[in-house]
Amino acid sequence: MAPRIVVLGAGINGLSSAVCVQQACPLAQIQVVAEHFSPDTTGDGSAGFWTPYLLGGDNVERSMNLCEVTYRHMMQLARSPLAGQIKIQKLSGYNLYCGLPPVIPLWAKSVEGFRQLTQEEMKQYPTVDSATFFTSVNMDVPHYMDWLMKRFRSKGGMFTQRKIENIEEIASECDILINCSALSARFLFKDEQVYPTRGQVWKVHATWIKHFYFAVAKEKDSLYVLPGVDYVTVGGTAQAGDWNTNPDPKDAARIWEQALVHWPELTHATPVQAWAGLRPSRPSIRLEPESLNMHGRPLEVIHNYGHGGSGITMHWGCALEVTAMVLETLGADQEQIKLLVSRL
Ligand SMILES: Cc1cc2nc3c(=O)[nH]c(=O)nc-3n(C[C@H](O)[C@H](O)[C@H](O)COP(=O)(O)OP(=O)(O)OC[C@H]3O[C@@H](n4cnc5c(N)ncnc54)[C@H](O)[C@@H]3O)c2cc1C
Repeated sequence: MAPRIVVLGAGINGLSSAVCVQQACPLAQIQVVAEHFSPDTTGDGSAGFWTPYLLGGDNVERSMNLCEVTYRHMMQLARSPLAGQIKIQKLSGYNLYCGLPPVIPLWAKSVEGFRQLTQEEMKQYPTVDSATFFTSVNMDVPHYMDWLMKRFRSKGGMFTQRKIENIEEIASECDILINCSALSARFLFKDEQVYPTRGQVWKVHATWIKHFYFAVAKEKDSLYVLPGVDYVTVGGTAQAGDWNTNPDPKDAARIWEQALVHWPELTHATPVQAWAGLRPSRPSIRLEPESLNMHGRPLEVIHNYGHGGSGITMHWGCALEVTAMVLETLGADQEQIKLLVSRL
């Protein structure tokens, strides 16, 4: 009998997991069940920018590997005929450090053209102490989500809009449950390690901004200007433990005021929308299988949540690992798994 797989969650991690598993297991019946779909998921309002940020500090090596796999995937899409449909682009720019020694991140060797700014170049940024330059990649996430959804549906994947109050509700409907429920894992799986880190940003029109800027200061929220294809995202806040998803006018005013201090070139930008969302923070992402017993019936769960501020940055690496775990659960050997995952 074809295995029945439910993916719980239709954010970027749920959809990318569903697409990858479907491709590797074409005979499986796969259903994505979620309360919210694009454009109402966290990634839809995010900047869609590749950078490891607000990511749990445990198991850093594994997280970096997932980020690097995703960098290569996003860079490949940005150089493909799909780029204009997904609205994904290579984007070069600056990490600026205030009151901090020069930082060479662990991922520096994996990205294009990473270097420190020269003394001469630093003169353009009098408010910062050190800076680096590199090429990243970003996308307008709702377009990418639309592409993932169409791809999944065209191969027989199903979507169900439904809020799950407890796991028992869907346990009898599947053999494997892929849990991409982000913050809801706190309630559905009693995981108190996952908590919100609220982020508020501005979406503005400013077509003349062609580089990204990410300013990090000691004990202050980072400030950033991240141009996408449709909007420039200007942020932001990082409020741990705050569950408020409504934009706060005080945050909005402060973000704009501070952004203009660093980037006067934003002065004639047209504000489009203030947006707030909740990053699903955790000391480390939870990307692992768990065997549960639901009233005498086994349920294999594969968890994929807790990506904090890096859910876009690591989504594809995580989806590939989820796929390997599903194949293993279905009895594939390591050689088969390697081959099938390498084709994704
Ligand atoms: C302001 C801001 C800017 C950001 N910018 C970036 C960035 O530039 N780059 C980056 O890498 N990351 C960024 N992030 C982080 C990124 O957006 C998240 O890490 C990522 O979107 C999380 O995706 P997810 O699929 O795990 O969760 P979500 O998008 O939160 O999706 C969870 C899914 O689970 C479903 N669900 C939950 N509970 C239930 C239930 N009980 N029943 C049914 N369905 C349920 C939801 O409806 C939803 O479909 C940003 C975040 C914020 C807030």
